[in-house]
Amino acid sequence: MELVIKNLSKTYSNGVKAMNDINLTVPVGMFGLLGPNGAGKSSLMRTICTLQDPDAGSIMFGDLNVLKNKDEVRKIVGYLPQDFGFYPGVNAVELLNHFALLKGIKNDAERKQSVEYLLQQTNLWDVRKRNVNDYSGGMRQRFGIAQALIGNPKIIIVDEPTAGLDPTERNRFLTLLGEIGLNKIVILSTHIVEDVYNLCSNMAIMNKGEVKLVDRPLAAIDKLKGKVWHSFIDKNDLDKYKKEYHVLSTRLVEGKFQINILSDIQPTLTFEASSPNLEDVYFAHVNK
Ligand code: ADP
Repeated sequence: MELVIKNLSKTYSNGVKAMNDINLTVPVGMFGLLGPNGAGKSSLMRTICTLQDPDAGSIMFGDLNVLKNKDEVRKIVGYLPQDFGFYPGVNAVELLNHFALLKGIKNDAERKQSVEYLLQQTNLWDVRKRNVNDYSGGMRQRFGIAQALIGNPKIIIVDEPTAGLDPTERNRFLTLLGEIGLNKIVILSTHIVEDVYNLCSNMAIMNKGEVKLVDRPLAAIDKLKGKVWHSFIDKNDLDKYKKEYHVLSTRLVEGKFQINILSDIQPTLTFEASSPNLEDVYFAHVNK
């Protein structure tokens, strides 16, 4: 079943238009939501989770009108927000049990079984008796996924989950997410392009409250073939290039200043063709 978002808009009371006519269809699998800070990703995700209302638009999950049936939706959506606090002095079993009660699993045996299963699935079984406040960043995020999975939701929404994780923890977390994404809708919001490339079969790029691209990562990369060029330039000439070309990005390579340009033809003889990657796709739609 797909999640179908139509014409979603939201302007906050301070005048910020966080969502501007968003249209998206999200199928089962991992869906990457890429965009810089302030793009509107969290606003969109909070709206799907029924935590805030849009000014206009609709969200349907099959026949379920998401904006009008909040109680129903909360039973089938699991959410891992960007920041979440823990009660001090509580271990993982107790806390997960508490969340399971809140989610409405009233039967004691069923709840116990569900809590144990989730702790095993998220590889927290060995540390289940430890105070969750003392967990490492990676353990916390895996605990966050365990709580999001309570009640076997059909849609999982995770907001910037790998920020601050070291490479090993990040890998472990993403592998777990990938397994979950095999039979659920998983919406992963991030500004880490590599995470989307590695995990997601579909993606959208958002910027300034708008959806700039919806595509499959590999297809989006393919469309840039033959159009990305790089050269090493004098940093002081950057503005000159920006005036003349669509500059995707700049970076230092071995101390030299590299510029990447999007162009149908070779910009000048000093430019060489690059094989495009998802970062180029991202910048092509964000740095317009
Ligand atoms: P992202 O998750 O992509 O960083 P957000 O949805 O958090 O984007 O924010 C989009 C824009 O809306 C930003 O300019 C942000 O400052 C603003 N914003 C987010 N939440 C609120 C709020 N509750 N009140 C006012 N402005 C907000």
